[in-house]
Amino acid sequence: MKRDRSAYMKARREANLEAFKDKDRRHYCANRESIKARQRAYYRRTKAALAWYHANKERVTAVKAVYAEAHPEKLAAAQRKWRLRNGPRLAMHARNYYARKIGAAGEPSADVVAVLLKEQRGKCKICSCRLSESGYEVDHIMPLSLGGSNADENLQLLCPSCNRHKKNIHPVEYMRRIGRAV
Ligand SMILES: [Zn+2]
Repeated sequence: MKRDRSAYMKARREANLEAFKDKDRRHYCANRESIKARQRAYYRRTKAALAWYHANKERVTAVKAVYAEAHPEKLAAAQRKWRLRNGPRLAMHARNYYARKIGAAGEPSADVVAVLLKEQRGKCKICSCRLSESGYEVDHIMPLSLGGSNADENLQLLCPSCNRHKKNIHPVEYMRRIGRAV
């Protein structure tokens, strides 16, 4: 439900971007002091938490090690859950960071994964396995390292195994290697 609402708000914002930006600006001007105070408080809290962590780093590490020893299966489950929830987002940041760093053209749209999942009917573009079972990775059809863009039209979803196999091989060469005509 919450997700639906945030998607709805996001769509509304995108459709009326200038009006929303204008509203943001007016809101900021009218509430400048309280916004700045909130930012300062957040900064202080984060800084204090980080300082505490650095001062107690060894103790934290020791407590974590004891927990890991006592509950290996709980730890593994928690790590799996974390990876499932955060993996795609982290991978997206890494991809976009790399693309910008090497000066690739294009920016993917925010919902590109959802669009591709639908277009590919939830299947790996190469081996047709179900991505809901294998997990998915976003692949650049023409690899970035060969001058491919980071825009939607150069993206496809592959299962992790196909993506590792394809690496940064030219798409035509790859199709030949797996015995598909192009
Ligand atoms: Zn595959």
